[in-house]
Amino acid sequence: MPKKEMVVIDCGDTTYVVPKDQAESYLARGGKIIHYTEAEKAKFNGVDEKSAEEPSAKDDIWQEMYEAARKEYHPEEISPFFDAHHVVAAVQSAKTGKIYAGFCIEGASGVMNLCAERVAALNMYINEHNTVVRRMIAFRAEPPKVNGGMPCGACREFFMQFAYENRNMEIITDFKSRKTVKLKDLIPNWWGDKRYKEK
Ligand SMILES: [Zn+2]
Repeated sequence: MPKKEMVVIDCGDTTYVVPKDQAESYLARGGKIIHYTEAEKAKFNGVDEKSAEEPSAKDDIWQEMYEAARKEYHPEEISPFFDAHHVVAAVQSAKTGKIYAGFCIEGASGVMNLCAERVAALNMYINEHNTVVRRMIAFRAEPPKVNGGMPCGACREFFMQFAYENRNMEIITDFKSRKTVKLKDLIPNWWGDKRYKEK
C-alpha cells in the first residue's frame, strides 16, 4: 500500500498532522506547513518513497502532543491574582484525531482554579463539540517521567463525567519510554457507571 502523504501544519495554537489532500482547509484558516513527513520529503527530493526512512519522532503522536502543549509553557502572572501557564497539557480528540492544548490557571481562591488538562478538554469541546479524548499529556517544564503526568482527582472525575469512553483514554506517564496508563485504572469502581447505563 502506498504511504499516505502527510503534512504538518502549524495553526498557531495547535499543530495538526493531516493528509496532504486535506491541507487546503487548514491553510485557508491561516495555517502554515512546517514540515513534510519523511516520505513526503523523499518524494520532493526525487527519491523513491520505498527508500524513505521509517517514521521518525516527527511522526510520533506523543511528540506532536508534547510540542503542542510545550508552546503554552510560559509561567506568568496574568493579573495580581492569577498565575497561569506553569502546567500545560494536550489532548487528542477521539473523534477527529486533532490535538488541543491547554494550560493551568490558578487564582486567589481555589474554587476558580482550572488544571491544564481540563482547559485542553474544553478547547477541544469548543472547537468540535466532542467530549471523547483518545490521549492526554500533562507536564511542567519537562515531559512526564516515571509515573509523572498524572491527572489530579478533580480531572479524573471530570473526564469520567465528560464521556463514558474517556475511561479508555491513554495518559502518558513516562515520555521517554512512552509508558501510558488508562484513566479507568486510576479511578476504579467509579460511582457514575450506573447513570451511563441508564441513559
Ligand atoms: Zn487536575
